[in-house]
Amino acid sequence: MGEFKAVLFDLDNTLLDFWSFKQKAAKAAARAMIRKGLPEKEGRVYRKIFEVYDEYGVEYQKTFYQVIHPYRLEVGQAERIQQAAIVAYLRSKFNSLKPYPGVVSTLGKLKKRAKIGIVTDAPRNKAWMRLVLSRLDRLFETVVTTDDTKVKKPHRAPFEAALRKLRVEASDALFVGDNNDRDMLGAKKLGMKVCLAKYGEKFKRNKKVKLDYEIKDFRELLEIVG
Ligand SMILES: [Mg+2]
Repeated sequence: MGEFKAVLFDLDNTLLDFWSFKQKAAKAAARAMIRKGLPEKEGRVYRKIFEVYDEYGVEYQKTFYQVIHPYRLEVGQAERIQQAAIVAYLRSKFNSLKPYPGVVSTLGKLKKRAKIGIVTDAPRNKAWMRLVLSRLDRLFETVVTTDDTKVKKPHRAPFEAALRKLRVEASDALFVGDNNDRDMLGAKKLGMKVCLAKYGEKFKRNKKVKLDYEIKDFRELLEIVG
């Protein structure tokens, strides 16, 4: 059991089940596009959406346009299909963006033992929308987004910004995240203890990082944080 003065968290795939949400929302968008007349099979559209995310990143704002554009549809019809996709995507988002099991109750308990904060590579508006939607928006003493430091993890700046805000030394802090090469590497370089959220891990580990803890369920943090 460690003695931590602060616990910092990544947001997507650590607190929020971001991939489940993305899959459900992409499926809803693909279905809507077909329903409005996109001449394609649903499965193909779904895969194409993820190809765009792979190429441009999951925060890309013109995903559906990229999917529809190659079909050379009349502009009104193309716009109709695009807006239908956006509406379906947002409806799905509002219903399916949820924290992993045990996150809310565990954070409530952790808050009594240590300061808690978020360090995310999402833009500020997206991060806060996700926090509000998942009802996590009042829990954290600091939320550092890409807009605050203009750089992404594993750069040290966003981690330092959060520690400074909480007035805690790196050696007294634990970082919890799903991404080895960004979350674990960045926090470790600063001298924080690191905990990999294995349940959210989707990316290959390219960098060797000595992990202090690994969890398969968020509630295990209660044993780690003294
Ligand atoms: Mg993440």
